[in-house]
Amino acid sequence: MNKYTKSIFEYNNGQVGYDLQNNKIDYDVQRIINNQKREKELTLPSASELEVIRHYTNLSQKNFGVESGFYPLGSCTMKYNPKINELVSSFENFATSHPLLNEKYNQGSLKIYYDVCNLLCNITGMKAFSLNPYAGAHGELVGLMLIKQYHMNKKDYKRNKIIIPDSAHGTNPASASVCGFDTIKITSNEDGRINLDSLKKALNDEIAGIMLTNPNTMGMFEKDILEISKLVHQAGGLLYYDGANLNALLGKVKPADMGFDVMHINIHKTFSTPHGGGGPGSGPVGVNDKLVDLLPDPKVSFDGKKYHAIENSKKSIGRISTFYGNFAVNIKAYAYILSLGQEYLGSVANMAVLNANYIKESLKDYYDLVINEACKHEVVFNGLKTNPNNIKTLDISKKLLDYGYHAPTIYFPLIIEQALMIEPTETESKATLDEFISVMIRIAKEAIDNPDLLLNAPQNTYIKRIDEVSAARHPILKYKDIKDAKG
Ligand SMILES: *Cc1c(COP(=O)(O)O)cnc(C)c1O
Repeated sequence: MNKYTKSIFEYNNGQVGYDLQNNKIDYDVQRIINNQKREKELTLPSASELEVIRHYTNLSQKNFGVESGFYPLGSCTMKYNPKINELVSSFENFATSHPLLNEKYNQGSLKIYYDVCNLLCNITGMKAFSLNPYAGAHGELVGLMLIKQYHMNKKDYKRNKIIIPDSAHGTNPASASVCGFDTIKITSNEDGRINLDSLKKALNDEIAGIMLTNPNTMGMFEKDILEISKLVHQAGGLLYYDGANLNALLGKVKPADMGFDVMHINIHKTFSTPHGGGGPGSGPVGVNDKLVDLLPDPKVSFDGKKYHAIENSKKSIGRISTFYGNFAVNIKAYAYILSLGQEYLGSVANMAVLNANYIKESLKDYYDLVINEACKHEVVFNGLKTNPNNIKTLDISKKLLDYGYHAPTIYFPLIIEQALMIEPTETESKATLDEFISVMIRIAKEAIDNPDLLLNAPQNTYIKRIDEVSAARHPILKYKDIKDAKG
């Protein structure tokens, strides 16, 4: 992982593993429109089959994933996804079915779509689901479009503001503004719970709704949720539930019972699809009675005998994706939910919460625990507890890389200055947690006795500490060809 390995662009020694011309591909250069012809000769790598294999193998080993080590990234739920779900979703009959086939040939796929919606309804208490959105943020956008349409249908055109607490995930205000809403930020208390006075002041007849997550981004359960839902509903607004991370609630509490009208789920966090690196994901949107008719098309219905694809339903907001979203991802959720069953879904929540609390209790003498009460699936520390050398959360996380761990989420939620947000997830064993805890304690001691170890970390990785600001402002995302750079 740490040694320098050649990139494929550096192989240029005349070796050829595969040649288009030898395969007599008939490419008609004349047909390329003139202004699309390259002016400079294309510098392609030339590499043998073995070199190509080495390139890709080395690339794959540069990655750090759940399958290479512990990955306690708060709010992202990087848990292990059983391989059986991958296998099921790649069955040939799923992989080769096409949404444009006559529905009589697609009964199995339509049934799965229908069943997954029902399973998600049971889990969340919602009335109906659409599996069409591709990701969490896409689900948020769709949910907000539904809220918007709901007010439009009531000719309540003034409602163009969405309330969002300052502890929210960044996608919440982003989705609200993409949907054309103004966002009203309200302050939360130090534990991330909503400040009721701040909420009451924000409520008026221009409020379309509020976006919340529960447990909140501090890992705390919002105890006032029923009061919050009453206040928002009385003011004529709707409640949006950011259900990206449902593992703390599975089989325990239903968002619909908390008063939420619309929500999304991240299948790629809670329901067993690997994520990171851009997908594919799935962000199903669930709604209660108020919004059922507005759900996007296509939908699936069942008449007791056959499944039907519904297009162009009268009140729908229309299509928000091609066909049925990322269908294969939703098959993985189907396999995952059915293999656990009602009984064991609850144990996901038990283990997620137990693991987070085990880490919280084991580290609270060394790291500054923000809220000293039981957390849900994740725990937030505000840097070190004893910190004579002014070590930052960034230094701690860089040192973790030296010890072979992926760093936790840092500097989020924004309300905690030196936030270090750890989510162990339910799939890790006690032995793994114990090892991580001992490394975290070791780092806390090094921070006092030998701070340079942290300030100069990481040392064991190929790339040492980078300049975070220029990496963000001037990212170089492609291999720079030396000839191009000169010429
Ligand atoms: C991950 C996450 C999202 C966004 O989900 P994407 O699939 O990455 O778009 C939204 N809210 C919370 C709380 C999240 O953790």
